[in-house]
Amino acid sequence: MRGFFEKTATQLPYRSEKGIHSCASCGLYKSAHSPKMEPYGACEKGIMVIGEGPGEDEDRKGRPWQGRTGHVLQQQYTRLGIDLFRDCVSLNAVNCRPVDKKGFNRPPTEYEIACCRQKVIDAIAQYKPGMIMLHGAGALSSLIGYKWKKDLGGVMKWRGWTIPDREYGAWLCPTFHPSYVERQEEDNEVAIIWERDIQRAFEKVGKPFPFSADEEQRIIVSENPGDVLPMLLKEAPPLMTIDIETTGLKPYNKAEHQIVAISFCFDVNRAYAIPFPTEKRHLGLLKRILTNPNVGKIAANMKHEDNWLNVLHGIEVNPWAFDTMQAAHVLDNRPGITGLKFQAYIQFGVLGYDEEVSPYLHSSAPNIPNRILELTRDKDSFRRLLLYCGMDSLLEFRLAELQMKEMGW
Ligand code: URA
Repeated sequence: MRGFFEKTATQLPYRSEKGIHSCASCGLYKSAHSPKMEPYGACEKGIMVIGEGPGEDEDRKGRPWQGRTGHVLQQQYTRLGIDLFRDCVSLNAVNCRPVDKKGFNRPPTEYEIACCRQKVIDAIAQYKPGMIMLHGAGALSSLIGYKWKKDLGGVMKWRGWTIPDREYGAWLCPTFHPSYVERQEEDNEVAIIWERDIQRAFEKVGKPFPFSADEEQRIIVSENPGDVLPMLLKEAPPLMTIDIETTGLKPYNKAEHQIVAISFCFDVNRAYAIPFPTEKRHLGLLKRILTNPNVGKIAANMKHEDNWLNVLHGIEVNPWAFDTMQAAHVLDNRPGITGLKFQAYIQFGVLGYDEEVSPYLHSSAPNIPNRILELTRDKDSFRRLLLYCGMDSLLEFRLAELQMKEMGW
């Protein structure tokens, strides 16, 4: 006897913080002519292409990219030397055709995308693509949306980056959906940007990732500033990142605020993190390092480090050499892309290292202390905080190096 649900309606549940999502709970398969469309293409070059959802033509033929929009995509790929159906495998963020009440194509909802996510993740596991092209907001949401805990933003923010995503083991390359490019016929710029994004993505096929996923092992955490500061003073590297963890955003209420941790990095493979010095001799050493004219200092938003060190300890950092946030803006002036966490993900595929610590770093207003001191009460949490601080310095150094290269320094 057949059960209440068909087997295929109940398989592939995707579990998220918001519960289980499945074909049964989505229901789009009920109205589709070609439900649960399978990935299509020989994938000879290891490229996976993800769209939003099948349209009427695709639903009728049972394969992705069969209509006018698919033709636009196919032509663009051909111009760049890639055969969509031979070199790539295609599927969609939602694999049953979404229709509105009148039976017309419509974009998939976030809920439908969540219900189909497991199918997409399973396809990645099956095909093991080296590069995954994400066409449009639905594809972006399918593979990045659920794990990017901050504001995802739109395609404009993500397009053009080639992300070495460690979870999927593939370069993730978001760009416009072909139907968007089609609709901007008068705006030649969109077509040019689209072509450049796709070309840059194709260039990543077969390229190794820039770093391996063992960053935390590269952070030397010491509870004693005296273990690290003399070495830094002696080393006097030409460039060094510094990063501090503080009890808030603004240091002016001196009685309430303090710097809790500080980290340093002058080598892409090693960073040091220590509690912020409290002893006079250690503060003296720190001051000598931070004011050594031969050591150029780097930070992500140097204004923060500069302000806190100056206001609370009278240390005037000198010289400041480079700021990764400003450099990110100079290299690409889109909003929402200059922060270290965004850059760490899109450049190095590093994601989520701040998850445990970040709830303690937010305060209700710039002058109100955050909850960071709670992390200093036991050894393990303090170590986590120091590791986090060290990760920031390491990633800032790697990022600065990359940016300097790109800027021709
Ligand atoms: N649009 C998509 O997003 N996917 C297809 O397969 C066809 C059109």
